[in-house]
Amino acid sequence: MLFDTHCHLDDESFAGEVRDVVAQARSAGVTQMLTQGTSISSSLDCIALAEEFPEVYAAVAIHPNCLMEEIPRFGDGAVFLEIFSQMAENPRVRAVGETGVDLYWHDTPIEIQKQYLALHFELARRTKLPVVIHCRDAEEPLLETARADFEKNGPVPGVIHSFSGDLTFLRACLDLGFHISYSGSVTFKNKCFDSVRETVCEVPLDRLLVETDSPYLTPMPFRGKIRRNTPEYVQHTARFLAEMRGMSEEEFFAQTTHNALKFLGIPESSPNVQDAQNVI
Ligand SMILES: [Zn+2]
Repeated sequence: MLFDTHCHLDDESFAGEVRDVVAQARSAGVTQMLTQGTSISSSLDCIALAEEFPEVYAAVAIHPNCLMEEIPRFGDGAVFLEIFSQMAENPRVRAVGETGVDLYWHDTPIEIQKQYLALHFELARRTKLPVVIHCRDAEEPLLETARADFEKNGPVPGVIHSFSGDLTFLRACLDLGFHISYSGSVTFKNKCFDSVRETVCEVPLDRLLVETDSPYLTPMPFRGKIRRNTPEYVQHTARFLAEMRGMSEEEFFAQTTHNALKFLGIPESSPNVQDAQNVI
């Protein structure tokens, strides 16, 4: 049994196929997944999917690269907090995500990204949900914003998704209390991922999560060979990580699933978790 803690089931590449994608994941042992909102409408779509499929939970937020399109729709931070707090009242919503900072694409000025990352932290505190953080080529502004929030308000439960930093960045994230989630990118052969692989054995076992970020970041050896990544492929990243950490597959799958349930506040005794265990 595995939990894919980061996917985008509302992506257009899954249109009309989510039922099959969820069923295939389930038969591969991936019995739970958290689909991430990137805008108001995407967050609402994620909630609808989570209501339709017992295997799916929703995260709601505005992705840093979508902020410029979304901000005119609500004007200021207070309205943002209002809209998303309301969405978070739905019990299928288990996280605030995905938010973060991105200096790879130049879609949103960095000051606005930092302002909204701080607002997402505030949303997480108000709703008592953990926050899912995207960080691409933007470690400094992320740490600056997270540290300022930490000093003012104390720790907020969070995860750095698709972790792609080095040991120094890892330690800074762990000091802030964050979980670390690896996607298929950790399996990529590119030399630049060597420093990411160096971090794998340094993450405390109880703070480790796995994800696909599907439809993106297909793990090796399927990268470039399949049309798109889907939640069932999280098993390949999980096996890769288990081997790196010298753990058995069963042990690693059970530990990371337990971590995900705990992180997202889903009781191990909840009916769909029990049901999923009976299937396996
Ligand atoms: Zn994502």
